[in-house]
Amino acid sequence: MKKYDYLIVGSGLFGATFAYMAKQRGKKCLVIDKRRNLGGNLYCENIEGINVHKYGAHIFHTSNKKVWDFVNSIVEFNRYTNSPIANFRDELYSLPFNMNTFYQIWGVKTPKEAKEKIEEQRYDVLQKMKAEGVLAPRNLEEQALLLVGKDIYNKLIKGYTEKQWGRPCVELPAFIIKRLPIRFTFDNNYFSDRYQGVPIGGYNELIGGLLKNIETKVDTDFFVDRTYWESVSDKIVFTGKVDEFYNYCFGKLEYRSVRFEEEILNTANYQGNAVVNFTDIDIPYTRIIEHKHFENFGQDVYNIRNTVISKEYPIEWKEGIEPFYPINDEKNMKLYNLYKELVDKETSVLFGGRLAEYKYYDMHQIIDKVFSLF
Ligand code: FAD
Ligand code: UDP
Repeated sequence: MKKYDYLIVGSGLFGATFAYMAKQRGKKCLVIDKRRNLGGNLYCENIEGINVHKYGAHIFHTSNKKVWDFVNSIVEFNRYTNSPIANFRDELYSLPFNMNTFYQIWGVKTPKEAKEKIEEQRYDVLQKMKAEGVLAPRNLEEQALLLVGKDIYNKLIKGYTEKQWGRPCVELPAFIIKRLPIRFTFDNNYFSDRYQGVPIGGYNELIGGLLKNIETKVDTDFFVDRTYWESVSDKIVFTGKVDEFYNYCFGKLEYRSVRFEEEILNTANYQGNAVVNFTDIDIPYTRIIEHKHFENFGQDVYNIRNTVISKEYPIEWKEGIEPFYPINDEKNMKLYNLYKELVDKETSVLFGGRLAEYKYYDMHQIIDKVFSLF
């Protein structure tokens, strides 16, 4: 008899949700994580009385009532609605692309005028695609130009995207930009989902609730003593990097990472919004997060004299730093598919989450994925 039913490698949202659901079904789990804290990318640290999202701003959003009810059964969520501001050379624009943005950029006041303007703005790319016999956008640039035209592409998309991914837009997959809604209403809500918010007390409350009464070990890298960890349970749930699991036998997958530069400022309200995106290529960071704005619901965070901001500098991933974003371009997907063939043959290891599936998952999709496994 092995000591555990499941060894879960990684205490991020996938591992923590899996452990919770397995425990409910009477399974004994051990969760290990190589970081010093639980929660993966959701981890928050309380600084100056503010929950600071240490691995990037996280806003929970979903249209799936089952997922929303599930997370709310663990922790109460506030009514935070994400409405980032884009700063392009000191001009401010509303995001996502909606009637406010179209008014700010072109002075158009009705949906009809905005649609006509976009039609005019995408004429060139349509002609080019027609001439080349192409029916669907081949890359992010073509997709963006088709959706919003050249002015918005040049001011609000090109610089931001090329900084974030470290690659030209013509080499990036079109689907990345389709994550953003485009609306012909005056609505600055970044997400179109039915439910949205941030856990009251921060994401550690969510992770703590999921992992309550489950054995955990931090500062513990699976690969440091792989043979031992493989011996402690019947099954392994692996949420780390899939290529590392197979000793990079086909080569290394590429990731995008972020360096966070955190500052405590002696002001109660620095930028008036949780998220300000800097879309000009010449500014080296993509956005500034001011964490207290995520929490100003039912408590007056502007009473706190100081504020905490994080500047996000996108960087290429290398050994020793956190891999955040899988790069789902053609080259990497080819490589991933080789690993996927090995994954499909495994009988006692289950691979899940952003790193193990090399997939750009949001939090609600992770939970839904775990639901589907049970
Ligand atoms: P992770 O959180 O990465 O967890 C994996 C865990 O495995 C880590 O803790 C890692 O330390 C551990 N691990 C890896 N290898 C080993 C090993 N060898 N041994 C032991 N432990 C190991 N989603 C949203 O819905 N809304 C948002 O606003 C949002 N914002 C985001 C912002 C950023 C900057 C990023 C990067 C992501 C964002 N996401 C957002 C996505 C969200 O972070 C993911 O959906 C979620 O974290 C995925 O959970 P996971 O468990 O798959 O991965
Ligand atoms: N994006 C952009 N300008 C912005 C914000 C986003 O061009 O001001 C693009 C960029 O390509 C990004 C994609 O939209 O990768 C998806 O943005 P999202 O905010 O969903 O990114 P994530 O949650 O992955 O950080």
